[in-house]
Amino acid sequence: MIFSAKKICKTCNQDKNLDDFYRKKDSKNGYFSKCKICTAIYYEKNKEEKRKYQIEYKKLNKEKLAIYDKEYHLLNKQKIYDKNKQTKIKNSDKYKSLYCIKSAKKRLKIKSSIPSWADKDKIKEIYDFASEFRSYGISVDVDHIVPLNSKIVNGFHTHENLRVCLSSFNRSKGNKILEILTEQQWHKT
Ligand SMILES: [Zn+2]
Repeated sequence: MIFSAKKICKTCNQDKNLDDFYRKKDSKNGYFSKCKICTAIYYEKNKEEKRKYQIEYKKLNKEKLAIYDKEYHLLNKQKIYDKNKQTKIKNSDKYKSLYCIKSAKKRLKIKSSIPSWADKDKIKEIYDFASEFRSYGISVDVDHIVPLNSKIVNGFHTHENLRVCLSSFNRSKGNKILEILTEQQWHKT
């Protein structure tokens, strides 16, 4: 049999070059039956329907997809970590400036939250205490017991409102007020 570099599109019935077809590994001749143009037209026509179908599918299979997501994350932890790291490196300038803005805002917030009666020496003692932990390689943060910018109350930057805690605990706490976190949660971190 002579190899023909041409193929008839089943949709528009035109005799076209093989280059005009997308490749399909598991088909008889290695190409789709629709030509590239017909494929594009087909996708354009069915775009809206496909989108609706995907939304509906996600809604109906929420739990299944969540499990799949979790499994995927567990199995591909390293891959995901590497990819995130690469993105961070690629956008390092963007991240850096974002970090600068964030920490500048935080410093400003802290500055405006120091009341006139605050005991600055005692505040310093707490920060020194944290430094001591860090010198042993323990990652700790100086945490505001009542957050400086919670939705309900604004805490002060005073020694009574400061404490040293593990960084992992601080991150999980977010802006929640400490009183509602139990002793148990503290020990879990
Ligand atoms: Zn065609």
